[in-house]
Amino acid sequence: MASSVSNAFALVRPPGHHATPNRSMGFCLFNNVAIAARYLQREHGVGRVAIIDWDVHHGNGTQDIFYDDPSVFFFSAHQVPLYPGTGMANETGTGDAVGTTLNIPMRPGSEPSDYIEAFQNTLKPALLDFSPDFLIISAGFDAHCLDPLAAINMTADGFASLTDILCEIAAETCEGRLISALEGGYDLKGLSESVVAHVGRLMAHA
Ligand SMILES: [Zn+2]
Repeated sequence: MASSVSNAFALVRPPGHHATPNRSMGFCLFNNVAIAARYLQREHGVGRVAIIDWDVHHGNGTQDIFYDDPSVFFFSAHQVPLYPGTGMANETGTGDAVGTTLNIPMRPGSEPSDYIEAFQNTLKPALLDFSPDFLIISAGFDAHCLDPLAAINMTADGFASLTDILCEIAAETCEGRLISALEGGYDLKGLSESVVAHVGRLMAHA
């Protein structure tokens, strides 16, 4: 918020996106990105926060926390069917917050090009419309083709492309303010190569 850096990557474990306000779940104890969003709002007066979740599992905890909150936009692209079984396209928020939850279920076998298309054609216009003051990435890397927990064919290069898209949106809407936090990722080679590619692109946009 002091503009000393424009983006950052939090190499945290355990992950957080399955944790609800009162329950740990799916390796997650506390919902790191949700806590970050609320911290930004309460301590720094940030108005609208967008959370982009590309972990291969649906970020059900984050969705639950902000489902009725129009100040936090939540996007998740995740494999369906897969744990935890939520995140259908018709889950879009409730009350005043209808339209600030956006889910894109991805079929097993989806390729990087499928993700890039979803980010460019569906997420980008929704984010530009929401116009966030801060962008947070729930950066799980378990959609990588080597990961044993899922069946999506993402690559390190694919994650680099998604990073570019989000950095460009952050530059357009919120002076590039972006934090990325590690979520899942269970193949050490796929995970490490993806994190290196992701952080490389973050640094290029910093
Ligand atoms: Zn995951």
